[in-house]
Amino acid sequence: MATAERDYYELLGIDRSATEAEIKRAFRKLARELHPDVSEAHDAHERFREVAQAYEVLSNAETRELYDRYGHAGLRRGGFTPTDFDLGSLSDIFSAFFGDDLFGATTRQRRARGADVGTVVEIELAEAFAGVKKTISVEVAVTCATCAGDGAAPGTGRVTCSGCGGAGRLQQVSRSIFGEFVRTQACPRCGGAGTVVERPCEACDGAGRIVDERAFPVEIPAGIHDGQQIRIRGEGHAGRGGPPGDVFAEVRVRPDPRFVRDGDDIVTAVDLTIAQAALGARVAVPTLDGDAELELPAGTQPGEVRVLRGRGMPSLQGRGRGNQRVHVNVLVPRRLTAEQRRLLEEFEHLAGEDTYRPDEGFFDRLRSAFS
Ligand SMILES: [Zn+2]
Ligand SMILES: [Zn+2]
Repeated sequence: MATAERDYYELLGIDRSATEAEIKRAFRKLARELHPDVSEAHDAHERFREVAQAYEVLSNAETRELYDRYGHAGLRRGGFTPTDFDLGSLSDIFSAFFGDDLFGATTRQRRARGADVGTVVEIELAEAFAGVKKTISVEVAVTCATCAGDGAAPGTGRVTCSGCGGAGRLQQVSRSIFGEFVRTQACPRCGGAGTVVERPCEACDGAGRIVDERAFPVEIPAGIHDGQQIRIRGEGHAGRGGPPGDVFAEVRVRPDPRFVRDGDDIVTAVDLTIAQAALGARVAVPTLDGDAELELPAGTQPGEVRVLRGRGMPSLQGRGRGNQRVHVNVLVPRRLTAEQRRLLEEFEHLAGEDTYRPDEGFFDRLRSAFS
């Protein structure tokens, strides 16, 4: 042995006169701290083994006496070799050794909440704008009405499971520090219940649940965004002794060719001819709640953006609306008649530097500050 062997009593933090119960308590406490399942320490595995070995020796009257008299050397001479045991999981060790469950859960069937169900609901942008009520349908496992969920044919009961003799769990024995290491698992035949149905319900084949198509209305709030989920509580799969799961409906908002959505803002474009842009124009702009009239002054430039305040999507938080941003596009003639060409050439001839000079007058600056 290259490494110094530590005193077993010291390892367990007990004194030499410790009773059996004290030894057990000390090990139990240390195992909770040191088991690699719960300890983050890099040497947790090693330390757990040391403590387990100390416990193995001190919990047995024979080996404890040998150790008390002759120490580590005495144990070796007495032919004792520590068990190279399978650590197992901490809860395995606790249920095997102390007969309890570390985490408070029982190996009997747990009351399980039903699973959640996901679905998709498609709406139009206009519906996302106004809010809408949609009916969605989902296939969910529901409690069988014929047997009320217990899986037994009506009028029949449950009988003791022959797989586990009613215990609900099966024990698997393997070598461990305790001589034998007992691993407990739920009985596969009865699922841990300890009983099975005498005759299975025909409606559900004994499962206690059947798949049913359920339709229900869902309120989609104004301002909902594409990809957001709405949770409908309690409409998911039935639980096993627990509450049903939820339905998560993902809302997909179909794109609208007239509008581009940017958060709560709506972006649109307006086309002006070169004459409208130069002379000024009053144009109708489609918005989510009808057309709006937009006054564009003479000299409006392509790429300018006008903002229609409060004409965007409603905020999902229920406060106010986004804006509508209108981008100005100026159409340049692509095909000219001889006369149109002559007029444009004449215009070009008359136009000077001043014709295109940006106007930075007081009112323009004021206007741009508010636009
Ligand atoms: Zn049934
Ligand atoms: Zn069973």
